[in-house]
Amino acid sequence: MAPWNMSKMRVMQVSRPGGPFEMLERPIPEPGAGEIRIKIQACGVCHSDSITKEGYMPIEYPRVPGHEVVGVVDATGAGVMGWAAGERAGVGWNGGYCGYCDACRRGNFFACQTATYVTGITSDGGYAEYMVARSEAVARVPEGLSPTDAAPLMCAGLTTYNALRNSGAVAGDLVAVLGLGGLGHLGVQYAAKMGFHTVAIARGQDKAELAGKLGAAQYIDSRSQDPAAELKKLGGAKVILATVTAGDAMGAAIGGLGANGSFMVLGAAQSMTVSPLQLLLARQSVKGWYSGTAIDSQDTLAFSLQADVRSMNEVLPLERAEEGYQRMMKGDARFRVVLTMG
Ligand SMILES: [Zn+2]
Ligand SMILES: [Zn+2]
Repeated sequence: MAPWNMSKMRVMQVSRPGGPFEMLERPIPEPGAGEIRIKIQACGVCHSDSITKEGYMPIEYPRVPGHEVVGVVDATGAGVMGWAAGERAGVGWNGGYCGYCDACRRGNFFACQTATYVTGITSDGGYAEYMVARSEAVARVPEGLSPTDAAPLMCAGLTTYNALRNSGAVAGDLVAVLGLGGLGHLGVQYAAKMGFHTVAIARGQDKAELAGKLGAAQYIDSRSQDPAAELKKLGGAKVILATVTAGDAMGAAIGGLGANGSFMVLGAAQSMTVSPLQLLLARQSVKGWYSGTAIDSQDTLAFSLQADVRSMNEVLPLERAEEGYQRMMKGDARFRVVLTMG
């Protein structure tokens, strides 16, 4: 191979809002001060990749999407501490934070006030053979999880695991997971493994068996049943984890909260309807949850390994990103699409 070729990588980029994925060669980027270069092995395809694909946020194009990245440290930039070439590494949605603003000094790194770094949105992400990440955004990946096992846990896993462990529910509480897609099928497993009385809610009776296999004690078919009424019959949910992206499906379930219940919103629906009277009479809340930072990802990976939680994946090579993305957007993927780099 000619020497110049060795410094090139393949990326799958988007050049304009709504544009197609384009496979092309680019020079392998050099890590700057505080940055780590990762040789990517796998990257999950998340619904939030549509932000980059369709231009739902202000984005500088061309941009490489992907924020469920797993690979190996390939090089470190000046001043990077604690990382060496050859170590396994993962990157999620959070692309880093400053560490010195008031929010960071209070430990609220997700709310960093000086800059917003989002993998695959403000910088190039994991639909590529290499990427560069700020070192504070990089998570350690344990042995025992393959790249394709670990990749979906960097966003879908992290988001559901971190929301559940911060939801206020304790072992034995009734926890409902709304939706059985990429996030939901992991959320049900985490909820069951955390010791919650886990109820899965999805559309169609055909998902009932899967829900049971994932650990759900009960299944509610929202096509033929009223999810709010069914949850009420079970005593009302302490937590409903809303992983769907449809506001009407959220609105149909929120009535199933019990006293002091929390409706935790993970899916980026346009809007949803909620009764203020219901909230105040039963002291309930609606709360969004930010996925988490790199240390939360590490915790997610460790718990997944310990409790044997895995994503069910459709694995495709990088060059089939468009197909994988379309399957995910249509809800056809069973249950997470993961891209692998040759
Ligand atoms: Zn995501
Ligand atoms: Zn900050």
